[in-house]
Formats: sequence, C-alpha cells, structure tokens
Amino acid sequence: MDTEEIGSDICVVGAGPAGLVLALLLLKSGVRVAVVERARAHQREFRGEILQPGALALLDRLGVLAGARARGAHEHTSFRLVERDRVLLDIDYRALPAPHNHLLSIPQAHVLDELLLHCEKYEGFRYLDGRRASALLRAEDRADGPVVGVRADGPSGAVEVRAHCVVAADGRFSKVRRLAGIEAGRSDMFDLDVLWFKLTKPASHGEGKGDGEGDGARGPVRDVRVFRAGGSPVLVYDSWPDRIQVGWTLPHKGYQQVAAQGLEHIKEELARAVPPYADLIREQIRSPRDLSLLDVFSGRAERWAVDGLVLIGDAAHTHSPIGAQGINLAVQDAVLLHPLLVRSLRAGDAGAAFLSAFEEQRAADIEQVMRLQRLQSKAMLSQGAFATRVRPKLARLLKHTPVYRKVLDRIAYGNPAVRIAEECFVHQAEERRSP
Ligand SMILES: Cc1cc2nc3c(=O)[nH]c(=O)nc-3n(C[C@H](O)[C@H](O)[C@H](O)COP(=O)(O)OP(=O)(O)OC[C@H]3O[C@@H](n4cnc5c(N)ncnc54)[C@H](O)[C@@H]3O)c2cc1C
Repeated sequence: MDTEEIGSDICVVGAGPAGLVLALLLLKSGVRVAVVERARAHQREFRGEILQPGALALLDRLGVLAGARARGAHEHTSFRLVERDRVLLDIDYRALPAPHNHLLSIPQAHVLDELLLHCEKYEGFRYLDGRRASALLRAEDRADGPVVGVRADGPSGAVEVRAHCVVAADGRFSKVRRLAGIEAGRSDMFDLDVLWFKLTKPASHGEGKGDGEGDGARGPVRDVRVFRAGGSPVLVYDSWPDRIQVGWTLPHKGYQQVAAQGLEHIKEELARAVPPYADLIREQIRSPRDLSLLDVFSGRAERWAVDGLVLIGDAAHTHSPIGAQGINLAVQDAVLLHPLLVRSLRAGDAGAAFLSAFEEQRAADIEQVMRLQRLQSKAMLSQGAFATRVRPKLARLLKHTPVYRKVLDRIAYGNPAVRIAEECFVHQAEERRSP
C-alpha cells in the first residue's frame, strides 16, 4: 500500500486527554493539526475516569464539558479514606466554589469523543486513527537531525506527517519518547501492582456512601473511597452507568504471591478488604479473566524537548493513580503548551531551546503534585495507632484551618493559575465543515 504524505503545522501523536485538548486549542487559534492515534475508537480500558475540578473548569471553558457529561457521568462529593467503618480522612469537595465543587467519574470515551467532535469542526484538522507512530522523520534524514515529522502505520494505512513540530502525547509507555532517545525517568517510588476490575451494581445496592443523603436535582450523594486494608489499599467508586470500579493496590510483584493461592483466596482477601462489596465480589468474580493486573509506576522524562519535538501529559511525567491527578495534569499541560506552540510557529523556531520553556514553566507544578502524592500514599499505606487514631483527629482539626484549604486546592486544581490563552484564538464561533 502507498504511503500517504501529509503536511501540517503541528503533528500530535496520541488522542488522549492531552493530545485532543491541545489539538482543539490550536485549531481554535487557526493552526493546522494532524493527530495520529493507534486505536480506531476510544474503547480502550484502564483509563482513569475521575476528573478533578481543575480539569472540569478547563473543559467547561473549552465548551466540551456539557456535551461530555450529557453522554453520562456520576458526581462524587468527597474523597474518603476508610478502615472498616471508620472514616480516617474526608476531603469534602463541596467546600470549593460551585459549579465545579465535586469529582466527576466519567468514562474517558465520553470526554474524548466530545473533544473529537469539536476538533472535526475545523478545516485544518486531520484525524489519522488506526495508525501507530513507528518512526520519527529527521531533517535531511540525519539520525541526529531535528525532528520534522512522524511515520505511522496500521490497519488504516501508512502515513508520513511532516510538521513544524511534533508533540508526543502518546502516554506513559510513549513510543515517540523512546524513538527520540529520551529516558522515561521511571521512579520506583510508586511501583505497584493494581488489580483493576468492575462489578455490576444490583438495583438494590446502596448508593454512594450509603447514608441515603441526596441533593435532589443532582441525584444521590456518592464518594470516591479508599479502604485502607493493611499495606494494600483498595480504591472504590461508582462508574457510569451502573458499575463499581475497584482497584486493589499491591506492592510491586505482590500479586504473584496472592494469585499463587488461587482465585478463591484472592476473592476472600478482597471481600475482607472491602466488606460492603463482599457479596458482589463473591458472586461476580468467576474467573481470573474478570480481573486485570496493571503495572503502575511514576516517572519524569529526563527532558521534555529536543529539536522539533516536545513531550506532554503522561509521556513527559507519569503519576500513580493515587489521588487521580493524571488527567488534570494532562489537560493543564495542553493549556500551557498551546500559546508556546503558537509563538513557535510565528517565530519559525521549533528548536529545543525554544520548546524547553514548557518544561521550565511546568517543572515546579509537577514536582509539587508528586510530593502531594507521596504524602497521600503514606496516609493510605501507614498502619498503627498514630495512623488509625491520632491522624484522623488531627485531620478533623486541620479541616478548619487555611492549611486544609490549601491542600484541597492543590489536589483539586493542581496549579490554579493555569488559564486558557484565549487571546490566541482566531475562531470565536466554531467553523463547521459543510456536510
Ligand atoms: C489504573 C489507572 C487508573 C487511573 N485513574 C485515574 C483517574 O481516576 N484520574 C486521573 O486523572 N488519572 C488517572 N490515571 C492516569 C490517567 O489515565 C493518565 O494520566 C491520563 O490518561 C494521561 O493522558 P495522556 O493524554 O497524557 O495519555 P493517554 O491517556 O495514555 O493517551 C495516550 C494516547 O496515545 C495513543 N498512543 C500510544 N502509543 C501510540 C503510538 N505509538 N502511535 C499513536 N498513538 C499512540 C494511545 O492509544 C492513547 O490514546 C489512571 C491511570 C491508571 C493506569
């Protein structure tokens, strides 16, 4: 099959939250964008589903949140760390200003499909799905030359995209990062095995935290809960439409030991860790195929830019799922990179020195989130009297101090100063392609 050759201003590899938010911002700024995506539809599993208020506010400002929510989502009012029936930590999002004063569990497909729908309204958009980026194109074919494009192949055909700049938004196992010879900077701090599975909620099962409290128009009160069960915390939340997402976190390679004792043993361990779901676990997990084992890690790429290429989202910095920060950060990355790329195009400069301004601007935010996640992780894993008796009392006292609000703001918004550079937009009203 012939290779299709395409020219664009910017080539984004990866149509996840980082890639598609960036594409939409650039399109609104009159920039032509080609997006290369290996999957044909957004039906991948294992993507994070919990959106923090920071991402919600930015997606709302971009005009995509309402449409994404209309496809189906659940609001959660708080994040709770519990041990059996004791609440050790309760982070109540209702203390934040409305309307984004909650967590939203929303299938990523709902967000990505809505973003794609908006991107497709622009003439300058090319969506090259069903193609996996497999090589970087270099100036004058020199192995150390600046990146000038990407080659991708797959069931939809081979393509070569030449662009002013390539953006690697291809996730935590980024192929583009590897092709550019950039180390992932994997840290073993959050190396975990996560057993990830969904249960189906019977109609009779209690909603959310089970206190029956509801807020009328918005439906039942739900929360995201982490059950602290020894050194293996379990994350549980309602997943749209009628599912319960469970993530059992074990030390790296710890699953092998548990699994060696058989499926019934795994089920009993889980049932003990999350008593409210014990019956559902016993009934619905029938085979190891009902469970997925994920290798979870965190890391920070050794550099985020080389000549002609810049990394964003998980490709640049990968986070543990603890605290649900990855999508927030990916969306904010796109928002911050957008004006830099507009300037880079105007200046005709996609050199590493120009593009590395993004990493310089973002490094402190990323470090702060990693620090916060280390603290959250400690709270979930620690045991003993201090953790179970003293710390909850301390947390309740702190709740009424400015420190608590500062931490809540950080978890909810990341860097609250991140704003969309709307002054770059040239399309105020979106331009619809003729049918
Ligand atoms: C188990 C688990 C649970 C999580 N839960 C949450 C959560 O609740 N909330 C939260 O905020 N974060 C969560 N995260 C993290 C979150 O999913 C990521 O941080 C976020 O999706 C990163 O967005 P991204 O756009 O950078 O990358 P991704 O979402 O990974 O998107 C990358 C895209 O690139 C494509 N791609 C990959 N390779 C190629 C290639 N060679 N060519 C073309 N395309 C390619 C992929 O198909 C994908 O569409 C979780 C992560 C894990 C592992």
